[in-house]
Amino acid sequence: MLITRLKNKKELYRMLESRSVFVFKCFGCREVFFPEDEINLFIQEKTGSMKGVAEIDYLCNEEFATGYTKEFAGEIREADGILVFSCGVGVQVLSRLLENKIILPGCDTLYLKGFQGLSSHDSDCRQCGSCWLNITGGICPLTACAKGLLNGPCGGASEEGKCEVNPCMDCGWVLIYKRLKAINGENILHDRAINVRDYSIIFNHSLFGF
Ligand code: SF4
Ligand code: SF4
Repeated sequence: MLITRLKNKKELYRMLESRSVFVFKCFGCREVFFPEDEINLFIQEKTGSMKGVAEIDYLCNEEFATGYTKEFAGEIREADGILVFSCGVGVQVLSRLLENKIILPGCDTLYLKGFQGLSSHDSDCRQCGSCWLNITGGICPLTACAKGLLNGPCGGASEEGKCEVNPCMDCGWVLIYKRLKAINGENILHDRAINVRDYSIIFNHSLFGF
C-alpha cells in the first residue's frame, strides 16, 4: 500500500505564489491512502488561485487521464501550472501528457508495508516521501537517473544524452533539463535545491496512525 501525505503548506503556498493552477485530485485507487479531507480544505482555502478542479479515478491510467485533459482543455490552457494531488505515478502521467505546463505535486508519496497493487512493478515512483517533481520538470530523478541522483547529473552522459551506466537509456538529468527548458523553467535548478532526503519519514509509519 502507498500513502500520500499533503505537502508541507509552506511549500504548497510557494508553488502557488503568483501562479494560477488547474487542479487534479485522484481519490480513486483503493491501494493508496489519500488525505481527502485535508486536500479538500486546502483547495477551499486557495480556491482564488485555481482555474478549476478535476476529480479523477486512477490518474495513473493514461487513457483515463488523457480523457480528463481533453475535457478540461480550456481551463488547463488558461492555467500557469497543474497542481496534482495523487501519488507520484499519477503526477508523472500528467507531466507526460501536458508537456507545456509546469507540474506541481501536492502530495508526498510514501511506502507502507503490504500489498501494493498493479502499478508497483512498473512504477516511476519509488515512494521516497519527499516529492520534488515541481523542481525536476515532472520527471522523477530517483527513477529516471540510473544512480538516483538528486542534485544534478553525474557528468558521465554521452554527447547524445545517453546514460553512462546504461547507454540504452536516456540520461534522466538531460531529460529533466530539456523539459524545464521547454517550459522556460531551467532557472528552477539554480534557484532551488532538492533537500537532503530524510529517510526516517518513510520508516516512521506511526506518524500516520497505521
Ligand atoms: S520524487 Fe520520485 S520517488 Fe519521490 S515521491 Fe516523487 S515521484 Fe515518487
Ligand atoms: S548519466 Fe545521467 S542518468 Fe546516468 S547516472 Fe549520470 S546523471 Fe544519472
